[in-house]
Formats: sequence, structure tokens, C-alpha cells
Amino acid sequence: MGTGLAWECEIDGCGEVFGDIESAVTHQATAHDHLECEICDALVPDGYLAIRHTFTEHSRAEYVRAYGANSADVREREELLETVADVADPESLGSDVQE
Ligand SMILES: [Zn+2]
Ligand SMILES: [Zn+2]
Repeated sequence: MGTGLAWECEIDGCGEVFGDIESAVTHQATAHDHLECEICDALVPDGYLAIRHTFTEHSRAEYVRAYGANSADVREREELLETVADVADPESLGSDVQE
């Protein structure tokens, strides 16, 4: 992995690109509407934080059932979480965007 990793916001075709994950997550949590979790009805920021919520608060089986997801969807999101964990402390992400 090089240092030139760019993070693109994919919410609603937004397409904004950020040089680090912290900026991307802050953008997703502040520039876009929050989502209601299909499993527990919690309101969570869209993008990375929504994925982290789903995969840390709920089981894979709950996710698949609530979102009609398949194993490729699960793998894609698990890979994103791993990629982010490689470059940042997942716990610190979004800590400055509490409403
Ligand atoms: Zn965006
Ligand atoms: Zn939830």
C-alpha cells in the first residue's frame, strides 16, 4: 500500500475525493443525511460509519437478512473495514462528528 491512497465518497454518486480517511468520514457524517439502521432503527451517519455500525453492532446474518445482501456484499464491506483499520484507528473515526 502506498501513501497516495485516496478515499472517494460514494454516497449518492457524490464522488468527492479525500487524501485521508478521517476527512472522508467527517465529510460523510456532516455533508450527507444520516441513515436509519434497518436492524435496530438507530440513526447513523451514511458511508463508512454506517458500515462499521452494521458490522460491529450486528451479526453478518442480521445484515444479510435486513438488507437483502449476499456474500459478495458482506466481503466488500469487510474488506473496506480492514483497509480502513490498516490506516487509521477505527475507534477514533467519527468521534468528532457526534451530533
Ligand atoms: Zn459525499
Ligand atoms: Zn443497527
